[in-house]
Amino acid sequence: MSQKKYIFVTGGVSSSLGKGIIAASLAKLLQSRGFKTTIQKLDPYINIDPGTLNPYEHGECFVTEDGAETDLDLGHYERFLNVNTSQANNVTTGRIYRHIINRERKGDFLGKTVQVVPHITDEIKRRIQLVGEEGDYDIVITEIGGTVGDIESLPYIEAVRQLKWELGEENSLVIHLTLIPYLSAARELKTKPTQHSVKTLMESGINADILVCRTEHNLSEHLKQKLALFCNVNKDSVIESLDASTIYDVPNLMLEQRLDEITLKKLGIYKWNDSDLESWNDFLRKHKNASDVVKIGLVGKYVELQDSYKSILESFIHAGAMNDVNVEVVSIHSEFIADKKERRKVEDLDGILVAPGFGERGIKGKIAAVKYARENKVPFFGICLGLQMAVIEYCRNVKGLKKANSTEMNSRTPEPVIDLMKEQKNLKEKGGTMRLGAWKCKLKARSRIAGIYQETVISERHRHRFEFNNKYLDQLEDDNMICSGKNPKTGLVEAIELKDHPWFIGVQYHPEYKSTVASPHPLFVSFVQAAKELASKR
Ligand code: GLN
Repeated sequence: MSQKKYIFVTGGVSSSLGKGIIAASLAKLLQSRGFKTTIQKLDPYINIDPGTLNPYEHGECFVTEDGAETDLDLGHYERFLNVNTSQANNVTTGRIYRHIINRERKGDFLGKTVQVVPHITDEIKRRIQLVGEEGDYDIVITEIGGTVGDIESLPYIEAVRQLKWELGEENSLVIHLTLIPYLSAARELKTKPTQHSVKTLMESGINADILVCRTEHNLSEHLKQKLALFCNVNKDSVIESLDASTIYDVPNLMLEQRLDEITLKKLGIYKWNDSDLESWNDFLRKHKNASDVVKIGLVGKYVELQDSYKSILESFIHAGAMNDVNVEVVSIHSEFIADKKERRKVEDLDGILVAPGFGERGIKGKIAAVKYARENKVPFFGICLGLQMAVIEYCRNVKGLKKANSTEMNSRTPEPVIDLMKEQKNLKEKGGTMRLGAWKCKLKARSRIAGIYQETVISERHRHRFEFNNKYLDQLEDDNMICSGKNPKTGLVEAIELKDHPWFIGVQYHPEYKSTVASPHPLFVSFVQAAKELASKR
């Protein structure tokens, strides 16, 4: 398609309505009809990226192939579309301002007053168009974070208004996602909040073209008519988005509501392929009709907030479908493993995953969980910090290095089996300076992990500062413990495994960032299979 089309997704009434899922679902439908589609997220906060945010604040930080620390919605985009995103797919206010301020210091605007309009808005517009051009996409869906009316969102809304005007009628449109609350006392769905949020959007000069209404109950024809009249949209552009039992149902729900067709027509496109969701629906069938349940413990310190481990949870869903099981993830707070109740939870598991993380809090519990899994032959999967904990546990309890530790937890430990990477030692800045993005890893031939990947050279994404200290390599490896994956250039240990165990693997990288519906991650698939085997023996 020569003329690129732009779709903007805004949100009203409330946060957490699932803009990311609606955007990803629409993108999935457009992709399935043969359009090359990408999604971008604009985040109105001043952090340069979410890498410096606490997971409690913003959920998981998703990492792209090119090493960008991004919003977790990019994870949904990749899982739905099976297409990699990059730095350009996530833009924050901090990033925009930094760019403009750097240009001001260089003298690019000499003699001029640098202002939100036009300088910031122009930069926003440039970045929206850049993502479409870089990947030569037919359609770009740009999700604006936050809720209309927020002070922070104003420059983005103004940039959308201008771009819509510049691109012209059939080249762009705005989808506004709102909530239609149900008042049980009145037994009624209420449209007023939506009317107000559409009005707020109009005050900024933007007419919503399509309304997607999150609701717990079906919208009657009468209600749709009312929404259309008061929100200035066609009646068939009022789309109902009923609460779904799984996010993976949403593309089908949107297909039933014809969101994709309505969108394409409004963009002046009248020819498209039949929608091909065959493999997607095959996955859904498997996911919904799984015959067994396996219980896997997720040991971490942010377990109260589901979003903190989003990609891991989704990877379990993909891997479960492949194994004809539902994975029941049992959250285990690493700080409280010593508690009888948490401890009992551990004893009932078919598999244990020790999660990524930072800092000292909860470390003891993670080490205890590794020890339990190792000694009781429960399938164990350690990711990033999880691998580091597995190394420390083995050194302390098998190798007799009682003081083995990570310098992240104790900078003066006499046995620094996990230590800062060389290139990290002189770094002063914390933002964006970890070892990030995709790196190659060479797997030992005939190791368990090489068997799982069915390859010996793999590439996986990283996000960490610490590593296994190779000074301890000879001491760590023995007849049982092997370092089965290494960075071919630096020799950094990327994977460990135990031979004398049904399934014990730790990886320094984050496999969860690469699991998608179309391509579930082999390590998760194999780990769930091992858990299923243990469950069947119980
Ligand atoms: N805190 C550890 C490090 O920086 C592990 C990081 C992680 O689990 N992502 O190396």
